[in-house]
Amino acid sequence: MNIKISLPSDEKGFIGRECPKCYEYFKVKFGTGLPTSICHCPYCGYTGDHNEFFTKDQIEYVKSIALKEIMEKVVEPQFRKLERSFKELERATRRRFIQIKVKTKCSPMKIPLKYYQEKEVETYVKCDNCGLEFAIYGIFANCPDCGKLNTSIIFKKSIEVARKRIHLLDVIKDDDELREAILEDALSGGVSTFDALGKALQSRYPISSHKNLKICSRT
Ligand SMILES: [Zn+2]
Ligand SMILES: [Zn+2]
Repeated sequence: MNIKISLPSDEKGFIGRECPKCYEYFKVKFGTGLPTSICHCPYCGYTGDHNEFFTKDQIEYVKSIALKEIMEKVVEPQFRKLERSFKELERATRRRFIQIKVKTKCSPMKIPLKYYQEKEVETYVKCDNCGLEFAIYGIFANCPDCGKLNTSIIFKKSIEVARKRIHLLDVIKDDDELREAILEDALSGGVSTFDALGKALQSRYPISSHKNLKICSRT
């Protein structure tokens, strides 16, 4: 018996995935990216078939649907068949010396479906290498389809946001408090972007000496 079950996506069309090695959660939009069934964990780099990346909620949901289908399409029809043959036996022995009486008590079993909702994560990214749309905790991670680190897209995006904030200062000239808050946001955003970039690069490309590593910035 084959049962086809499609997993529901979230409101943006993403479906949750859970790495079988580090158990971290992320989401992908199927239909974007590479035509592959292979998935790379964006956090630890584990590589395996997409079938290994079901979340616990998805497994429970699939199990409940399968159980419901088996009950409705296999168990109950078989039980009704058995019940009919006992009734026939009862009819056949009605005026005989030995009579068989059959009483069945069975109401259809209610199998509750285990619905779930995909979790909300922090960053939605479109891979600039393969086009996969995916969503992760944190800001830097590898693309689940092509495995490329998303540093350049996220870094550029974050710096762009900081730049836009700085440009806002030219528009708001008479509100010093607001100007100060925007400037503070722009600077702390820029600094944390550099910090996260450094950490992501170091964990992806561990190096013993930092002598040759130079990050140049011009704002
Ligand atoms: Zn992992
Ligand atoms: Zn990619």
